[in-house]
Amino acid sequence: MSDDKPRDSAVGIGLIYPELLGTYGDRGNAVVLVQRARWRGIPAELVEIAAGDPIPDSLDVYIFGGGEDDPQHMAAEGMRASKANIERAHRGGAVVLAICAGFQLIGHRYVAADESVLEGIGLVDLETRAGSPRLIGEVVVQPTENDVWGELGTPRALTGFENHGGRTTLGPDVTPLGNVLAGGGNGDGSGVEGVLEERIIGTYLHGPVLPRNVELADRILAWVTGGLPSLDATLEQSLRAERLDAGMSKGARKWWRDRMLARG
Ligand code: GLN
Repeated sequence: MSDDKPRDSAVGIGLIYPELLGTYGDRGNAVVLVQRARWRGIPAELVEIAAGDPIPDSLDVYIFGGGEDDPQHMAAEGMRASKANIERAHRGGAVVLAICAGFQLIGHRYVAADESVLEGIGLVDLETRAGSPRLIGEVVVQPTENDVWGELGTPRALTGFENHGGRTTLGPDVTPLGNVLAGGGNGDGSGVEGVLEERIIGTYLHGPVLPRNVELADRILAWVTGGLPSLDATLEQSLRAERLDAGMSKGARKWWRDRMLARG
């Protein structure tokens, strides 16, 4: 799909089960992808897949957002039923962006606080267990240097907002989205955040993540459309700078507090 030939149809940005996986405004990710494509003269459309409907294999981007445990259970059922379509689309060149509950569900399983096991779709080798305390607040992530980023290269530090109890552990051969500079991230003690594979990003970052980090949005678009002309990003970069300041000062405060506690 990422050839530079003109496309014969609009880029289909799929927002999956927004009624269930939309608690944290993750719809904004789909809006940003559509708009950044259109600003470049690339036809794009937002395709909403309503809760319970089969997920087609014809989309270019599959966006799974965050949601609390009950809606997450309902979403998991539909995702498992459409697992073959999602896998086929991904093999054919589509991108998967999965946030928080969605991130957990592209893994093998989510083990809730009562030890009940919610099966995911196993697109990526990872699993999540509910933990305590809940990780809430600003996050800053230094993305992993990796060839999968493509021609645009590794994006600069990402900012987001997290709100989850899950502790996610990546399989031994799986690459994280990045290292945590501030906040909790995957929360399993590894100091990493999210997952990064060819045309797959899983992350705990809300915000939503793509309006806050347009460099990440453009890498996702480029995975689908090939080379992209640059856009003026003055406003977006001032938002990024503001959020980076907020996140890093939180990181610095935490570093200072931990140091004081360690001293006793
Ligand atoms: N239920 C999951 C957790 O708390 C996901 C939460 C979310 O999507 N914000 O870990």
